[in-house]
Order: sequence, then structure tokens, then C-alpha cells
Amino acid sequence: MMNIILFGPPGSGKGTQSAMIAEKFNLAHISTGDIFRYEIKNQTPLGIKVKTIIEKGELVPDELLIDLLRNAMDKIKDRNGFIFDGFPRTIPQAKDLDILMTEMKSNISGVVALEVDEEEIVGRLLKRAQLEGRSDDTEDVIRNRMSVYREQTEPLLDYYSGKGIVNKVNGVGSIDDIFLTLCDVIEKL
Ligand code: AMP
Repeated sequence: MMNIILFGPPGSGKGTQSAMIAEKFNLAHISTGDIFRYEIKNQTPLGIKVKTIIEKGELVPDELLIDLLRNAMDKIKDRNGFIFDGFPRTIPQAKDLDILMTEMKSNISGVVALEVDEEEIVGRLLKRAQLEGRSDDTEDVIRNRMSVYREQTEPLLDYYSGKGIVNKVNGVGSIDDIFLTLCDVIEKL
């Protein structure tokens, strides 16, 4: 199996690139953000629970992620593995993922980290807010999501660097150029 974590701050292009990578390498694309948006739209019990948290740009509690992930894992079918987009976001989530991978007699093949500086990100997200009307894309919420990222998610890079599986990629440029670089990196994992 090939299991990849696409890592990066909000607005770094993870969603777009993950979808393209999933198609090229025949991977199941697991986007926890997309799952939550679907649950909110359909007003499911989970959606109702997480709506205000997401609108504030905070993280959904870790214990709600593990079940979600177990369900998503069923998507594997005839795929070659997974690409995780927006997950894990905390150390406990990364540890849960390790357990799940061990249960599947597999492991994380690599973490690919998209690097984009903060001002570029805020600009991109404000633009996306206008285009998609996402309720968590106002400037205050964007700034909050960035600080949540720096405090709770960025430390994961050290966690995975300790395992020697982090590959950094410049996330500024055209979608197609970044995609080509990502493919190069993934082919070498
Ligand atoms: P995203 O589309 O990945 O930026 O996710 C949108 C929002 O969903 C985040 O700002 C969080 O509130 C929530 N979320 C998505 N994935 C996770 C996760 N792995 N852990 C906690 N919260 C998450």
C-alpha cells in the first residue's frame, strides 16, 4: 500500500493537490474537512455538533476523528492506498493513525509538506471565501485557523521528521507545476 499524508497550512492547496494525486496514483482521498462539511450540510448529529467549532476555525475534538477515520477507511476497495488531506492535525490524531495503520498491517509511506508563507495564505483564503462562500473563510477566522495550525498542527512535522519521512515541497507556483513536483516526490517514496 502507498499511504501519503499531504501536510500544510490551511489554503496551501492540499485539497486541490490531493484530489489530483488520488486520481493519478489510484488512492482513496480522505479529507476530514470535506467529511465535516458534508455532515454539516446534511444536518446530521455529527454535523450539528461540529458546526460552531468549524465556523470559529477551531479544531474538532480528537475523539470525534477516530470513528470518522475508521468509517472512511472502508473506502479503500480496489485502491492502492490513502492520501490523507487535513488529517492528522494533532499529535493524538497522528498516534491514532499509527495504530490504525498497524491494524491494517501497513504504514505511512511519506509525509509531503507544502510550504506557503502566511500572507500568501491569507490572501488566497480571502479570495476563496469570495468564490466559494465558505463560512470559515472570513479574515478573523482565517487568522485563527493559522494560529491553531501553528500551535497544534505544525508540531506534527517534528513527530514525522523523527521517523525520517518528511518531504518538503514549495507550495507557491502554478497548480500544475506544484503537482509535477509532488508526483516526483511521491514516485520516490
Ligand atoms: P479543512 O477543509 O481541512 O481546512 O477543514 C475545515 C475545518 O474542519 C477545520 O478548520 C477544522 O475545524 C475541521 N477539521 C478538519 N479536519 C480536522 C481534523 N483532522 N481535526 C480537527 N478538526 C478538523
